[in-house]
This record gives sequence, structure tokens and C-alpha cells, in this order.
Amino acid sequence: MSFEKVPRDAATRVIIVGAGIGGISTAIALRRQLKHDNFTIYELGNEVGGTWRANTYPGCASDVHTHWYSLSTDLNPNWPQSHVFQPDLKQYWQDLAHKYRLYDHIVFNSKVVSAEWVPKTQVYRVEVESVDGKRLVEYGRILVAGTGILNTPNYPTELSGVKKFKGDWFHSANWNHSVDLRSKRVAVIGNGCSAAQFLPIIAEEPTTQIVQFWRTPMWFLPKWRDTYSPLMQWVFTNIPLTLRWYRNFLMFRQEMLYMTVIRGGPNTWLRNRFMKGLTKYLKENAPEKYHDVLTPNYPFGCKRLILDTGYYESLHRPNVELNNDGIVEVNETGILTKKGETIPLDVIILGTGFLANDLPFHVRGSDGRSVHEYYKQQGGPTAYYGTMTPGFPNFFILSGPNTATGHGSVIFTEEVQINYMIKVIKPILSDLATAFEPTDAASDSYNAWVQSKLGKSVWNACTSWYRAEEGKGKITGIFPGTFVKFWWTLREPVWGDFKVSDGTRWKRRRAIGKVVKTVLGAGALGAGVYAIRNPEVVDHILGNLSKQASQLLSQVSSYVH
Ligand SMILES: Cc1cc2nc3c(=O)[nH]c(=O)nc-3n(C[C@H](O)[C@H](O)[C@H](O)COP(=O)(O)OP(=O)(O)OC[C@H]3O[C@@H](n4cnc5c(N)ncnc54)[C@H](O)[C@@H]3O)c2cc1C
Repeated sequence: MSFEKVPRDAATRVIIVGAGIGGISTAIALRRQLKHDNFTIYELGNEVGGTWRANTYPGCASDVHTHWYSLSTDLNPNWPQSHVFQPDLKQYWQDLAHKYRLYDHIVFNSKVVSAEWVPKTQVYRVEVESVDGKRLVEYGRILVAGTGILNTPNYPTELSGVKKFKGDWFHSANWNHSVDLRSKRVAVIGNGCSAAQFLPIIAEEPTTQIVQFWRTPMWFLPKWRDTYSPLMQWVFTNIPLTLRWYRNFLMFRQEMLYMTVIRGGPNTWLRNRFMKGLTKYLKENAPEKYHDVLTPNYPFGCKRLILDTGYYESLHRPNVELNNDGIVEVNETGILTKKGETIPLDVIILGTGFLANDLPFHVRGSDGRSVHEYYKQQGGPTAYYGTMTPGFPNFFILSGPNTATGHGSVIFTEEVQINYMIKVIKPILSDLATAFEPTDAASDSYNAWVQSKLGKSVWNACTSWYRAEEGKGKITGIFPGTFVKFWWTLREPVWGDFKVSDGTRWKRRRAIGKVVKTVLGAGALGAGVYAIRNPEVVDHILGNLSKQASQLLSQVSSYVH
């Protein structure tokens, strides 16, 4: 490795892993905010869009209001619905990649396998493997993991026998559209967001016999998909600020839900009232025989919110059956339940979610430690402000540990992180320093605050993908606060929390900046005090200024005529 030649432009190169929402948004921010063009995105798949490229199951849609679940710099007045479907979301991200001319910067079908910080050259050495098995090495001073949290399908161990199953089987994130479900006995395993969206759609075909296997009942929020008329879209397009204000209103509404119901311990008065309402909704919409098994025994807010897009209603269909007996194994012909019954099947669809806690490539930092080793030491994924890790200079993780808010748009969260990152890397790209990394002390202190807040929260009251150790350990997914709090926390880097490398020029500039600010501030204060004490002098200055302005205006108008 020491013989490898590092290209000169590596000093300002940004390597982005993943062309999902986070990767594309990072590239857009580099272009828009820093006019920076020296970046490459490596993407495992063959198109942009991440989640919205991979998930093509029937009914796949955003469960956050799309006017909010879109990029703040590129609002779309033409969304057809409040919660749009996957093809529209994928198209939106493809259009953005075209608009900002990003395709030339993306290397598709290429998996980043590892990255290692080389202290001598102050760059990451990144190994990339293409689908045809070729390996290449790339160097860059800044590394951004835009690999998301929900893209490694989860295959629970009790389902390992699915490989022996003689029929068709697939995970909802890799939907096999060539499998015809008509006249088939189909098992749907799981009842999270994805299964709740696709089950009602596949159940519309009366010859498809569905058995849904699941472990834990979920809280469902009432169905909620508005359509936007051409008039509304016209208003959003043509009347300034309406779309921006509408988006702000949607954010505010979700914040209110958090402030009133989700925040606080598991047993608050408002939460209990809310759960009563949801139980009533369940009883009014799901078949009576399932009321008991569908009622969760944990507090609302503990798991990610699920919208009822026709799930309860679909359980009334004669071709849909629930089975919560528990799965012992999948065998060649079907599923053996804990009651000793084998359910014969033709197709198995795994709606078993994702392995949410993993960074899908190896990163080694300045002290030789890997990110995974650091996570292990900390009892699960841990990061400074959810974005950087001590010992890993210039390395940023989008949707990193403890950044999810559970009640809203991941795009908002990632934009906050990206704007923070832009501020940290600006001195590096301006050649004022070579690296920034948070200190252990700063990271520990931030995470002590995070965990102390979460310790008393509702997220302790159930198992979920927000927690390490198979959903039972430390809460590593959730940020303990509102969106506004998250934005406020990351609005400016706390420079004292960082170790800086080769930062003499940057420190000098900051010192000069501070002196200039102090002098200007003192000057402004002095001028203010003087003006209060001597109003006649101010009148005189203003009078002169207005005279000069009117002379200038008359000169300009004489040119115009
Ligand atoms: C079905 C579904 C519905 C969802 N609905 C919502 C919603 O309504 N609202 C919401 O806020 N969130 C939702 N989410 C969460 C969603 O994942 C995020 O909103 C968002 O997509 C995160 O974007 P991302 O770019 O960080 O990750 P992703 O969209 O997951 O993109 C990551 C990209 O990185 C690539 N990649 C991974 N590893 C590597 C590697 N080693 N090398 C190269 N490339 C790699 C992947 O191929 C992928 O393209 C949903 C998730 C799912 C699965």
C-alpha cells in the first residue's frame, strides 16, 4: 500500500457511498453550496433512488407526507397525492440526478467493500468491487456513507429453512414480479410497514389464498392519503410561498404529535387517550375474531408508526387469514408452526424488514480501529451528533446512530446532517486544514446526554429495530427530541469538540475572523450609543444620505429616458 501513488486531486475528492436519497442530496449540496465538483458516488445498484429503486412491491409508498418527504431545495408542487407511490418517488430522485448533472459522477453496479484512513497522505483508501468481480482502489479525503438504514433485508434465523422450500420465495425488498400469485397459497411473513402496504393489494385477487404469519401486533394510524387536484397543484406552482408554508405546516403537525403523544415515558395521559382512540379504530375496522390478537400490549410510539392503507379492511376478505401460532421452521413444502401444524404453501413472501443497525462496509480509522469495533465497545452503533465518529477523520454517516426521529421525514434529518457536514468540510476543501474528527470526550458527553434522555422514554418499552442486540439492547436508532431540536443541535459545528490536522491556517483565519467580528460588534455598539446621545448628528447624516440618493435617482432616470 505504501507504494501506491495517491492522485493529486484526492486532497479535495469526496467519495460518497450509495446513490440513494442521502448520496444524491450530498452531491447536490456540494454543487449548490460549495460549487464543488470533485466527487464520485459508488452505487451497488444500477440506478439512483436507494429505497425507492429497490422496493417495488405492490402498494409501496411513502408513509410520511411527500411534500415534506422531499428535498427542501427542490420542492415539487405537482405531487399527485399526499403519500405518493414508489414509481413517483423514484422518478423524483432520477429527475434531480439529471437536473444537477450527477450521472457522470456515479459509478453504478459497484460495491464499496472497505475504506482505510492513511495518516501519511490524510486520505481514505477505498476499495470498490464491481458486479463482474473487478476491484479498484480510489482515494479521497472525505468519505460519506449514504448507505441508509433500511436496505439490508432481514432473514430471521427461524426462517433459514426457506432455502429448502420448493416453491417460490422472496423478500419484499426484492419483489419477484415474475411470480404469478393467482390461485396460489401464499404466506406473508411479518406485519411491518411493507407487509401492511402490499398485503391489501395482493389480497384483491380472490384466488390468492393468503396466510399472514406475525409475532407482534402493531399500532395502526387511520388511512390517510389525500389527492391533490390540478387547482391545488396550480396554487402550489404559481402562488409564492404557499408550498413552503404548506410543508412547514406538515412539519409542525408532526412535531405536535411528537410533543403531545410520543414524547415522555410509556405511560402518559395523552398517550393512553391516543391508544384508546386507535383501539376504537381497530375495533371498528378489523374483524371481531382478530380484535384481541391485533391489540398491541406495548405503548404507542415505541415502534415506527404504520399507516393503515387498507390492512384492517383486507382482513375481512375470505382469502386472508392470520396466524400467530409462531414459526418453528420453513421446510420443503410449507411452514411448520409451534402448534405442530404444517401449512402447505406455493409462495413465501418475507416482509421481515431490514437489519437496521449495520454499516454495510468496513472502515478503519486513524488509530487502526474499525467502526464495527468501535460500535462493539460502545454497546451498539454510536456517533458524535449521529454523524461523525471519534478516530475516523472526515467520515460522515447519513442517518447514523440516534438520528431517526420516528415521527417524520428521513430526508429532513439527512439534510440537516449534510448541511452540518458542508460546514465541517469547507475548510478542508479550501485547503485550510486536512482533517477534522470529534474527540472521544465530546462524543462520550453527547451520547451520555442522548442515552440519559432515552432512558426514560417510550422506546424502552418494546423490542424494535431502533435498538441494538436484536431489538432488545441500547437504543441506537432514535434521536431524543423534536426535528427542530435536531436541527438546532447540528446548526453549527462546535469547533472545540474537534481534533484538527494541519489546521494552522484555518486557526489563524478563525482568530482573525473573531477579531474582526469583535471590532465590528464593538464599533456598531459604539455607533449606537453615540447615535442615542447625539440624535442631531444622526439626522444630519441621514439627511445627507437621502439628498445623495435622490440625486442619484434623478441621474439614473435621466439615462433611462
Ligand atoms: C419500504 C420503505 C418505505 C419507507 N418509507 C419512508 C417514509 O415514508 N418516510 C421516511 O422518512 N423514510 C422512509 N423509509 C426509510 C428510507 O430508507 C429513507 O427515507 C431513505 O430512503 C434513506 O435514504 P438513504 O439514501 O440514506 O438510504 P437508501 O435509500 O437505503 O440508499 C442507500 C443506497 O446505498 C447503496 N449501498 C448500500 N451499501 C453500499 C455499498 N457497500 N456500496 C455501494 N452502495 C451501497 C444501496 O444500494 C442504496 O442505493 C422507508 C424505507 C423503506 C424500506
